[in-house]
Amino acid sequence: MELQDLLKKFREYSSQDTTLLELAWNFSAEAHADQKRASGEEFVVHCRAVADILADFRMDQETICAGLLHDVLEDTAIPPDTLKKEFGDEINNLVAGVTKIETLKFSSRDEAQAENWRRMILATAKDIRVIVIKLADRMHNMRTLGWLSPAKQLEISHETISLYAPLAQRLGMFQIKSELEDLSFRYLHPDEYQELHAKVQIRFAKREKLLAEFQDALDKHLLSSKVPYRLVSRAKNLYSIYRKMLKQDKPFEEIQDALGVRIITDSVVNCYALLGVVHAAFKPVTNSFTDYIAVPKRNLYQSLHTTVVASSGEQVEIQIRTEEMHRTSEYGIAAHWRYKLGEKGADRHLDEKLNWLRQWIEWLQDLSSPREFIESFKTDLELDQIFVFTPKGEVKTLPVDGTPLDFAYYVHTDVGDTCVGAKVNGKMVKLDHALKSGDICEIITRKNSFPRKDWLTIVKTASARSKIRHYLREHKMLDE
Ligand code: MN
Repeated sequence: MELQDLLKKFREYSSQDTTLLELAWNFSAEAHADQKRASGEEFVVHCRAVADILADFRMDQETICAGLLHDVLEDTAIPPDTLKKEFGDEINNLVAGVTKIETLKFSSRDEAQAENWRRMILATAKDIRVIVIKLADRMHNMRTLGWLSPAKQLEISHETISLYAPLAQRLGMFQIKSELEDLSFRYLHPDEYQELHAKVQIRFAKREKLLAEFQDALDKHLLSSKVPYRLVSRAKNLYSIYRKMLKQDKPFEEIQDALGVRIITDSVVNCYALLGVVHAAFKPVTNSFTDYIAVPKRNLYQSLHTTVVASSGEQVEIQIRTEEMHRTSEYGIAAHWRYKLGEKGADRHLDEKLNWLRQWIEWLQDLSSPREFIESFKTDLELDQIFVFTPKGEVKTLPVDGTPLDFAYYVHTDVGDTCVGAKVNGKMVKLDHALKSGDICEIITRKNSFPRKDWLTIVKTASARSKIRHYLREHKMLDE
């Protein structure tokens, strides 16, 4: 990809001055000069591909610049100060955020830990755009995964399917989620993937004629309405079919996969107009109509859903939506990144922040319980918690300034009671050492060792304090 291609794509949706973009383009080329990827390509090809994906999402200029520069801090000798001086705080913060996520390696095979990791990533990235860049980065890495060793392929695919695909889903980025899942699926279960891929192709070929006939008939009716529209067929997510097969314990042949058509138009009023045309032309299936435009889903998804009977007797699911709703359903939170063209100043930022906060809250509401919602909200926005790892890669949540003693009691009461020392990132520290997010903490215990009274002044968590008190009281070591 050339600079001109990127500029052209960007100008299709933005009238922002592109000087910064051109600077970032050149800067990343120089910074990564002489570096190569496993494929033998110039390293900078990767940075450009990430920027290109971000432009597909229609992100603002700062985000695309950060995409071009996202590996500069990680993979070159360029210091953060330089980046800040050249590109300002906003872009520097985005790049620093992506770099930070890179250091949070996902090594645990424990699925329960994956949720902790996802939360940690969300909390670490104070700006949601950091995650969008990270997902674009992962998408390109997955597309080019074939060049790496089989062991690396498995490791990265595992991380992608357990960490990044659910993250994309939660942000409503379904297109990205599907692609990440299918690419991972291909490396994790190559035989199943190939088999399913072939079967889906065959089924698709068989039904293509049926669908084409229906679309022709539909076209005739829609055209006569004079309302602008386009028809889109639904993409297939192989991994979701595979998951369905496992869940229902059924072979592919027994998995229902309804025919589906999407109608995309220009306005909400026209969505209803086209719905009228569809229902007048084809008999709707009773109770199949759902109005997600008047009542959007919590993740902001909007569309009209209905199922009608084609002349062949086959049922066809129809979704009607505006272009904007379509973008939201494919790109999720990225589609909502509002930047008002030509508007600068405090108001613009306030608007962005409020908008961002609103969406953050809305997608958090998808979490299963209110308690979980409140907790995530607190963690993600206040950052009053830190995330510390066990040497095995498990994450524990502690309050800010939590100490190795708090951590020890978090792991287990016995570990706390017999704690005699701690190593943080491989170095011995005092028990009152203030831990930071991302630290790996190893607790050293000794049999027959026991809690001291002065520990009560060290620990920051109520649970550790009460466990220490409990021990001291039991052993008559408290003066109360
Ligand atoms: Mn990268």
